[in-house]
Amino acid sequence: MTIIKSAAEVAIMREAGRIVAIILQKLSEAVKPGIKTRSLDDLAENEVSKWNSARASFKGYHNFPASICVSVNDEVVHGIPGNKVLKEGDIVSLDFGVIYKGFQGDAAVTVGVGRVSPDARKLMDATRTALAEGINAARNGGYLGDIGAAIQAYAESRGYSVVREYSGHGIGRDMHEDPLVPNFGRKSDGIRLREGMTLALEPMVNMGNWKTRLNNNGWTVHTADGSLSAHFEHTIAIGKDEAEILTLL
Ligand code: MG
Repeated sequence: MTIIKSAAEVAIMREAGRIVAIILQKLSEAVKPGIKTRSLDDLAENEVSKWNSARASFKGYHNFPASICVSVNDEVVHGIPGNKVLKEGDIVSLDFGVIYKGFQGDAAVTVGVGRVSPDARKLMDATRTALAEGINAARNGGYLGDIGAAIQAYAESRGYSVVREYSGHGIGRDMHEDPLVPNFGRKSDGIRLREGMTLALEPMVNMGNWKTRLNNNGWTVHTADGSLSAHFEHTIAIGKDEAEILTLL
């Protein structure tokens, strides 16, 4: 069952989203050659502790051990912060969520470490644009499939593939609510989109093919072919017509 939020609930989610955006911005600025991924997790914990009513939602979720996911190069999503040291030319997905006054915000960005190759830059730019295309397709009265179709069409037009085995999701009081929001699909397929639906859109775009493999740690998702992958995410609310991005500064 898809949950329709009231304007008051969306307003709280806007505040939750702003906290996520502020902290993600700080994390992005902290990404430099030589930094350990664990240090980014420490920074996120320190930042979220500045808000009385907010806490990091990933920590402990199905026993996930950290407050952020840090996924480097061929890692698609759900990378666990640890002793890995970032180096010049890496690309890093930073995924972070909070729960604030009972509601969730969830967003991700991929950033380069120092100077990255033109190919890596193009992949990140295309993934960010694919997310924008998905958000633009998320309209009151439209269909869930419009979102995935728009994301897939853009990513594939640039010669990339979209991950099939992991998706965006409804979000609200829970981090993962119905519906699942695939990053591929067909226009006019699936449920109708309605004002007050809140969704996390999160294209994962691979330079090679769309297949993934799970790391032995049970969390980290890699591209099966070892190619680079980028990931961007926003939490949005379907409005009267267009969607509003909730995870903005
Ligand atoms: Mg998410």
